[in-house]
Amino acid sequence: MNKKCLICGNKTKIKRLKLKDGYICQSCMKKSGWGSWFFTQTGAFKWAGQHTFKQFEEFTRSGKTSKDAAQEYLKLRNLGIKTVPDSNISLEDAMAESEVDKINKMDTSDEVKRQLIAAKVFDLTFVKKEINYLPKVLDDTETIQYACSGVLDGHTWLVVCTNARLIFLNRNMIIGMDQKDIPLSVINAVTYTKQIVSGTISVTNGANVTAIEKINSVAAPIMAKTIREEMTKTKEPIQSHIIEQGPDVPDEIRKYKQLLDDEIITQEEFDAKKKELLNL
Ligand SMILES: [Zn+2]
Repeated sequence: MNKKCLICGNKTKIKRLKLKDGYICQSCMKKSGWGSWFFTQTGAFKWAGQHTFKQFEEFTRSGKTSKDAAQEYLKLRNLGIKTVPDSNISLEDAMAESEVDKINKMDTSDEVKRQLIAAKVFDLTFVKKEINYLPKVLDDTETIQYACSGVLDGHTWLVVCTNARLIFLNRNMIIGMDQKDIPLSVINAVTYTKQIVSGTISVTNGANVTAIEKINSVAAPIMAKTIREEMTKTKEPIQSHIIEQGPDVPDEIRKYKQLLDDEIITQEEFDAKKKELLNL
């Protein structure tokens, strides 16, 4: 077996770094900035085993050491990602990809499955029963924009943002399926707070604030962004409708005529306003 160092070409000893496609000797590890073999943590060795020499080069060239490699390995492991995403793919996309099989196995409608996959949903921990129930809740004009799980009042809920509303579903032992809705049109503000391992989203509608806690730290900012985007979309058509309509010119002139008759404005002021309204 060829265990030559990919950098210097020398035969490597036991103390070497095993990459996906070859080995690097102890002294080349040090020279490339990875750090010494002795201080390389288990996680960093695992990281190396999942990466190619090319990826190792890119990694160390950007100033990263074995310590960073160990951290990266642990981060992905904690997020439940088994296969390492290549550098062209974002973490969110990698997580969504690893969820596709799980979604396809769920006991829900094909349409819901298709929409969850299209929305790149990945955090559906402890909400399988709620997902199964989802087809009964969604109407024909609604599409899932994003979904995740989160904690409300001490219980884990499925949180779904559609193009029309925010839906909260929680299977409750006593009352069965519990559902709450917040139409996007009544939401005034969405705030996202990052905690160490999770995130909290607060949705304000009028005087009510709904805090969704313990959302997966990668999913939380995506959910907050999605709600904001969908909120804006529901508000846009109304605004542009008003602008397009503009003032009713004859009506406006009549209003000013009344003001003139009541001697609130002068003839001159009336004439000027009339000219302006008629674009003369
Ligand atoms: Zn070497």
